[in-house]
Amino acid sequence: MPVFLKLVFRNRLAGAGAIIIAALVLTCLLVPVLPLADPDQTDTAHRFIRPFSEGRLLGTDHLGRDLLSRLLWGTRLSLAVGAVAALLAATFGTLIGVTAGYFGGRVDAVLMRGVDMLMAFPYILLALAIVAALGPGLLNALIAVAAVNVPFFARNIRGISAGLAAREFIDAARLAGEGHLRIILTELLPNVLPTIIVAVSTTIGWMVLETAGLSFLGLGSQPPQADLGSMLGEARPALITAPHTLVVPGLAIFVIVMSINLLGDGLRDALDPRLRSGALARPSPVTLIERAEVPAARAAPGFLDLDALDTRFRVGRRLYKAVNGVSLSIARGECLGLIGESGSGKSVTALSIMGLVASPPGVITGGAVRLEGEDVLALPYAALRSLRGRRVAYVFQDPLSTLHPLYRVGDQLTEAMRVHDRITDQEARARAIELLDTVQIPNPAERLSAYPHELSGGMRQRVGIAMALANDPDLIIADEPTTALDVTVQAQILALLDQLRRDRGLSILFITHDFGVVGQLCDRVAVMYAGRIVEEGPTAAVLAAPAHPYTRRLIDCVPELGGGKRALTAIPGLPPAVDSLPEGCAFAARCDRARDVCRTGTLDLAQTGGRAVRCLFPETTATEDRA
Ligand code: ADP
Ligand code: MG
Repeated sequence: MPVFLKLVFRNRLAGAGAIIIAALVLTCLLVPVLPLADPDQTDTAHRFIRPFSEGRLLGTDHLGRDLLSRLLWGTRLSLAVGAVAALLAATFGTLIGVTAGYFGGRVDAVLMRGVDMLMAFPYILLALAIVAALGPGLLNALIAVAAVNVPFFARNIRGISAGLAAREFIDAARLAGEGHLRIILTELLPNVLPTIIVAVSTTIGWMVLETAGLSFLGLGSQPPQADLGSMLGEARPALITAPHTLVVPGLAIFVIVMSINLLGDGLRDALDPRLRSGALARPSPVTLIERAEVPAARAAPGFLDLDALDTRFRVGRRLYKAVNGVSLSIARGECLGLIGESGSGKSVTALSIMGLVASPPGVITGGAVRLEGEDVLALPYAALRSLRGRRVAYVFQDPLSTLHPLYRVGDQLTEAMRVHDRITDQEARARAIELLDTVQIPNPAERLSAYPHELSGGMRQRVGIAMALANDPDLIIADEPTTALDVTVQAQILALLDQLRRDRGLSILFITHDFGVVGQLCDRVAVMYAGRIVEEGPTAAVLAAPAHPYTRRLIDCVPELGGGKRALTAIPGLPPAVDSLPEGCAFAARCDRARDVCRTGTLDLAQTGGRAVRCLFPETTATEDRA
């Protein structure tokens, strides 16, 4: 809860609103025990006493009643009526909205047409008509105000519920055999609740105002009972002679409504899940970079060099060390495989290269990314942006979520070109056709007008690759591009990438968790574990003789066709959480070769003849050496 309050108070106005409302509510609760004059006690000898007089802090009204006492009792009543009306409207509105949204079809049509009928009347006229029918009085005013606000809630909630009702988790609950009521209460309602809370908090202000309006017209609270609206109404004849009788309730209404609305806005922001996750500010277009020092450039720079790259996530008080001193080098035309279990930091490494890690919470706290010797992380935003897509392009795992569902494939391809180049429609179209042809999509000209959902998974990934190729980049970073595909399509995509690399001299950083894929495509491979590189070397050599126990076990996980009966061994245990990495080797807890020394100090990446391993007892040493 403190995080939530902190979020509310981040917005100063909302914080001020919260404080005022809290003070008001507290005062209103204490009113019965405060030493106040009787609010209804008339004293015609002392009418219209000015404020700040002896014993009368706010003066008296036209009947000599104490204004301070009436103000406090009136505020108490107005706030209570506003809150109750808002809760009533929210309850009935939610009931109607959730029912209509969840069941849809005829239920939806009947309920929503009823709501529409209510909405067809001008708002305040409807409230007046209801009070006229029920007779004047505060309770009837409350009912009228609540009733005219039901449609607002019903429509709002219905829209959200209808969207949620079509989602997979609701289907899953149905498949699990849950009843409608249970699904609504446990699946739907918790997801609608933040919206309801926000809507209530922003409408209480309105309700206070509307009730005051009805009371002002004499239809709400009846004399001598004080509420803010009736105080205002009674003071109207004395507008010129005793303006304070009018200013006091007027100011009170203003302050109450303003602070409720400011607080409501703050609540809305604080309840937004994206803000709650720790991303307090708008994400910036470049990852935040806080480097104390920049490592020196390499003596023999490759095409892309990562030097001791550190990327962290700051979430609340936790610090997730997702990427920990990662150094990699890719030569021109080379394919480097980056392999590791899910959560080992491969994607964050890949996104850090072009400063694409979301900030907040991501921060690059050290290291350098050098593209042909130039420090990418030191570049101004415009220069970095011109590199993105033009020299370094990405292909992601799930093409369905990278392609925009509402645009045609052709438009998305040409958009990728237009970001960097000024070209005519014909040129763009011709190039798009050529690209689709390059990635071996049949009938490319016709496919340009297809929507992503009209293509198969393999086709969509081909389009993803075509988009990456649109600006003829030098490096493609492919983040598990075949994980979502079946094996035959995977083989085609791998063959395509391999061919593109040979035809165009592309460098590829290929991220995967599958050693089988690495073996087919990559010249060299780097194995990542808990944010660190634990082994690196030429693919063939690493596959033939893995040095790190983790690498060996990863290779053991790959099934082999026709290789005789071999036990497939899963790696026991889980990788450590990157916000609490152990000392020494992060893999020690799961390793069958680990000894006590493995769990202390820091381990270096030991280089030997083109290979590197971060292990005290690598597999390549004989078992006797371990003693
Ligand atoms: P993978 O190797 O599967 O691609 P990632 O690079 O996506 O793994 O994630 C590496 C680590 O970084 C994970 O342990 C994850 O918990 C952490 N991480 C990634 N994104 C965030 C984030 N936005 N906030 C906090 N931690 C994150
Ligand atoms: Mg990943």
